Amino acid sequence: MITIEDFFEEKIKLPSPPAIALKILEAVRKDENSFDELARIISVDPALTVRILKIANSSLYGFPNPVDSLSQATALIGTNALKNIALSFVIIQDFQEAPQGSFDVTLFWRRAITAAVAAETLAEYTGLHNQDLFVTALLQDIGVLILYLSDISSYMALQDEKRVTGKTTCRMEQKKFGFDHSEIGSHLLATWSLPETIHQPILFHHTDIVENQFQDASRLLQFADKIAAIYYGIHANSKCIAVHEGLKKHYQLSDEQTGQLIDTVGEKSCEILDLFALDPGDIKPFSLIMQEANEELGRLNFSYAQIVLELKQAKQSAEQLAMELKMANDSLRELAFRDGLTGLYNHRYFQEVLESELERAKRYNHPLSLLLIDIDFFKKVNDRYGHPAGDQVLQEVSNTMVKLVRRCDMVARYGGEEFTVILPETGLTSAKVLAQRVRRGIEQMGINYNDQMLSITISCGIACSEVDSHGDTRSALIAHSDQALYRAKKNGRNRVEI
Ligand code: GH3
Ligand code: MG
Ligand code: MG
Repeated sequence: MITIEDFFEEKIKLPSPPAIALKILEAVRKDENSFDELARIISVDPALTVRILKIANSSLYGFPNPVDSLSQATALIGTNALKNIALSFVIIQDFQEAPQGSFDVTLFWRRAITAAVAAETLAEYTGLHNQDLFVTALLQDIGVLILYLSDISSYMALQDEKRVTGKTTCRMEQKKFGFDHSEIGSHLLATWSLPETIHQPILFHHTDIVENQFQDASRLLQFADKIAAIYYGIHANSKCIAVHEGLKKHYQLSDEQTGQLIDTVGEKSCEILDLFALDPGDIKPFSLIMQEANEELGRLNFSYAQIVLELKQAKQSAEQLAMELKMANDSLRELAFRDGLTGLYNHRYFQEVLESELERAKRYNHPLSLLLIDIDFFKKVNDRYGHPAGDQVLQEVSNTMVKLVRRCDMVARYGGEEFTVILPETGLTSAKVLAQRVRRGIEQMGINYNDQMLSITISCGIACSEVDSHGDTRSALIAHSDQALYRAKKNGRNRVEI
């Protein structure tokens, strides 16, 4: 690892202070309290003079009366402070010309100004004021700029790696260069002959505070940096909480005081950035940022709730629709199975069921019986009372048959005034009993058509797989039951044949 001195020798030409800064420094070094020399140097640059006066009139100092000359400013804020302001201006101006790659030099200075304002404000709250604080806080991270300028692509890669790994900038710098930006910055400012009160606190602004005469300033810098971080970059809220805790622990500031302090830094930053000709961007008091964020969150929550509600409703109506569709499909399917007049299963469905019941009967070696039923002299009903009467007879006979058979039996309309009943797991004896029950039931029912009682009988043929050696196919079973029905008709109707 190379030393810092080697680093400046080999890697980068040590940036010399801007010419005017050099003069300012020399002037002050000659005689700490010599104002005349300082005023003469500053006055050469009218723009600088105006800016310094603006700073003296800003809320950073908050003097009740306007400050309109450098001598008045010096009287109020001291030669040293005036020197520091002048230094801040010229250094920022000088470094603005640094190449702006993906590293945002302007943003760097904006954050530095906010840190400087934070240091001043914190000094007020804690009574730990010193005249070098503003410029010290402003320059505390100048080492970052130096490292960046020494090797732009490496430093950007380092920043990327930091973002990915979550390691601290200092650790990454130590690994890459052998020292971090606080050491570099401190070293640079020392070579510029800035006083110890400036470069020593900078040396410790990222490490544990060393107990020495600069420890208060070091700690103020640390917190100034943390406060500035709230306004720049991510995780503002958690940084804010950390600042609250830190200031309570080290300076016994209440949460209210800290909240106020953080807000003040935001407000003053805006003003001071403007004086340094830096775009204040959207910086504003943190509590306002939080309030706006909360309002936005509220709006988001509201619209989120709205979306959830709408989704729920959409889901409900989709489910409702799906259910209605299913019901419609079910009834359609039912319709496809059913006979329109009687509501019994239709011929097609009867064929399907008979097929599957036969297979089942064979598989389990169970008997299966089939009844074929035909209404006797049905033509006469039509002829005598009309077709509507015939239809009513068909309907009532159907209903009665359904009631007379068992639950597992299936009644179907075979066609016209012919019906079939499939009797699963039913041998011949039971089939005969059941057929007789149906026959008798129909015989006894009596149908009221327009106050006329119609008597109806049926004839029934039974085929049973148990006794039918060739009755193990659908067509055979139907043919044999038809033959039996034919015999029932021939043998006098209103009877059952096998
Ligand atoms: P059999 O005792 O020999 O069975 O005599 P039948 O009159 O019942 O038999 P046939 O087959 O000669 O007549 C059946 C009649 O059933 C003929 C037809 O008009 C009638 N028919 C068939 N389907 C319907 C229907 O849906 N409604 C009405 N009203 N009559 C129907
Ligand atoms: Mg008939
Ligand atoms: Mg018939």
